[in-house]
Amino acid sequence: MIMSLVKGLDRYFAVLNNVKKAKYLIAKEKSLLSQKIELADDVLQNCHFCERRCGVNRLAKEVGYCGINAISSYASEFLHYGEEPELVPSHTIFFVGCTFKCEYCQNWDIANRFVAGTPVLPERLAEIIAMRKYQGAKNVNFVGGDPTPHLHSIMYIMNTCNINTPMVWNSNMYCSNETMDLLSDVIDVYLADFRYGDDGCAEKYSNVKDYWEITTRNFMRAYQDAEVILRHLVLPNHLECCTKPIVQWVAERIPSIRFNLMFQYSPHYKANQYLELNSSLSYEERMRALEIVRDAGLENLV
Ligand code: SF4
Repeated sequence: MIMSLVKGLDRYFAVLNNVKKAKYLIAKEKSLLSQKIELADDVLQNCHFCERRCGVNRLAKEVGYCGINAISSYASEFLHYGEEPELVPSHTIFFVGCTFKCEYCQNWDIANRFVAGTPVLPERLAEIIAMRKYQGAKNVNFVGGDPTPHLHSIMYIMNTCNINTPMVWNSNMYCSNETMDLLSDVIDVYLADFRYGDDGCAEKYSNVKDYWEITTRNFMRAYQDAEVILRHLVLPNHLECCTKPIVQWVAERIPSIRFNLMFQYSPHYKANQYLELNSSLSYEERMRALEIVRDAGLENLV
């Protein structure tokens, strides 16, 4: 039996121990998943899976900002040992495309669709998910890029799966309210980025508007609906404008959330065009980030 030593992930461990069912299985039994699939197909025809709300008909092969029509593709899938300790090995499926355009993106080739990927066949992915579970996977981890443009395909995959395993939504949390409705009662764990404490930084480096309002709204919804691991990637020279407001907001609103303060930033893609992002974190910055977290009183740290 896999024991839970992690606060805030009781249900996740209950599914791992086969004491409870994954949410998507319950949703299938109640015919809720099939209803959600119909709703997702409707969203696809006037796409507002994310808050860019492009309004394109992806079923008619139109593409919006993310560049993806109705056909989803994934770049790779494997047992990932680099995620949070409670998740590994995690069966990670990397979908191509993203709703962000991060100038320092580590997965820029996938996110920008320089990798064509393998088109999703739900039955085939369901077989692969079962095989990875047999190989030891503790969960299925939908990521990219970002999984948001692929929500419809992910639901079709779930509809053909039958194994009891937690479903993890690994996202930038820039999805729409309608997408949050669809994810509700289906996703067991949100593995969720909270990157910017300042809308100007979000627009400058990821080309997104209203980042704070949208992300905090979605974090509150996720926290009320499921279990959440919050990831904050500390960016060099962004301790006071980004790390500090995020930590303070978390301490005030959701202080018991599982919080992963990440120090692994290194410059990728176009980061060398920004002097302030063209380095790893300094020792002083790491110490300052830890001080911010300690002063705020966050305790459930990865
Ligand atoms: S997922 Fe977002 S970026 Fe992509 S088409 Fe839909 S609304 Fe636009």
